[in-house]
Amino acid sequence: MSGEVIRCKAAVAREAGKPLVIEEVEVAPPQKMEVRLKILFTSLCHTDVYFWEAKGQNPLFPRILGHEAGGIVESVGEGVTELKPGDKVLPVFTGECGECRHCKSEESNMCDLLRINTDRGTMLNDGKSRFSKDGQPIYHFLGTSTFSEYTVVHSGCVAKINPDAPLDKVCVLSCGISTGMGATLNVAKPKKGMTVAVFGLGAVGLAAAEGARIAGASRIIGIDLNESRANEAKKFGVTEFVNPKDHDKPIQEVIAAMTDGGVDRSVECTGNVRAMISAFECVHDGWGVAVLVGVPSKDDEFKTLPINLLNERTLKGTFFGNYKPRTDIPGVVEKYMKKEIEVEKFITHQVGFSDINKAFDLMLKGESLRCIIRMDE
Ligand code: NAD
Ligand code: ZN
Ligand code: ZN
Repeated sequence: MSGEVIRCKAAVAREAGKPLVIEEVEVAPPQKMEVRLKILFTSLCHTDVYFWEAKGQNPLFPRILGHEAGGIVESVGEGVTELKPGDKVLPVFTGECGECRHCKSEESNMCDLLRINTDRGTMLNDGKSRFSKDGQPIYHFLGTSTFSEYTVVHSGCVAKINPDAPLDKVCVLSCGISTGMGATLNVAKPKKGMTVAVFGLGAVGLAAAEGARIAGASRIIGIDLNESRANEAKKFGVTEFVNPKDHDKPIQEVIAAMTDGGVDRSVECTGNVRAMISAFECVHDGWGVAVLVGVPSKDDEFKTLPINLLNERTLKGTFFGNYKPRTDIPGVVEKYMKKEIEVEKFITHQVGFSDINKAFDLMLKGESLRCIIRMDE
């Protein structure tokens, strides 16, 4: 099929908030520095839901969503030397060109060329889409569009992984689990014995809690509005659960009272700007560090008194837990292969591709952590 158009099934988001429609689409061959992937497993992350709802984000339809996935390289475009057909890969929503100042910096994963761009619906090489139906283009999402049997991505957004890795499990490392763990281990960096608060106990937040457990945190305080997360959270090292609905005071005050003035580190994984502010204000003065991970609505503003920063609190944010996708993710997969990290406990549901809308329902109801979507059904 190399060099030819592929016809395959894709789940197309045609309208904001309306069920995805499984349609036959055409997927053009990869162009310069691009690869075409056969997606075998994908899963749903809350970021897909925000752009499908398009309430707090710019609408762009018709679009093929999806960014957490695992697959096989089907064919490669001109200039691609590091990937070949048959390679087992994880596509990642933020890329690594390997050449820019960010890629050369140890501190950044914000590649100049391939960093996350939520509003772009086309490929960089020619500014056009590789997806179409009846000659009409369908937009890409996050450069990945994994809710399709075949997709085209920039080769810099692809991590080549151990050929023995089970894609139905490690696909969740292509966004949520790496993001949460990395946010704690690479950005918040708690020292052994520190207290850590995690806001939002979905898969991303529970992965952040897992990171805190790995780092040797003494207390991991999980905060969520969904009471049913309390039990689940225990499996991920959360030692105390706080539901803001049970308190009249701002939650940062509740946490300060529990921890003699504040936690040492906090990681926010909700996407709610009020929770982001609480996550910052609940860290201890003098040394506390807060890390924002949740994707806010496009017009949200973060408001706090500057004195909260002057009092020596640090506010940070991260995409993808500061991991560089090509350099670091193969190693994260190796950690799974050596049983140093567990991903199975994040996978609460599985559906066939034709039932992809069920994955959206489960996430919206707060019933799932990760729902794996099997592309062959
Ligand atoms: P999820 O829906 O599974 O989990 C979010 C959790 O937050 C839910 O349990 C929900 O009940 C809770 N929550 C919502 N509002 C809250 C509030 N005000 N206070 C306390 N808890 C609250 O979602 P997810 O897939 O785990 O993603 C979490 C967030 O991380 C989303 O905003 C997503 O867009 C973002 N995200 C960011 C990155 C990144 O690179 N920065 C990567 C992946 C996901
Ligand atoms: Zn994601
Ligand atoms: Zn770069």
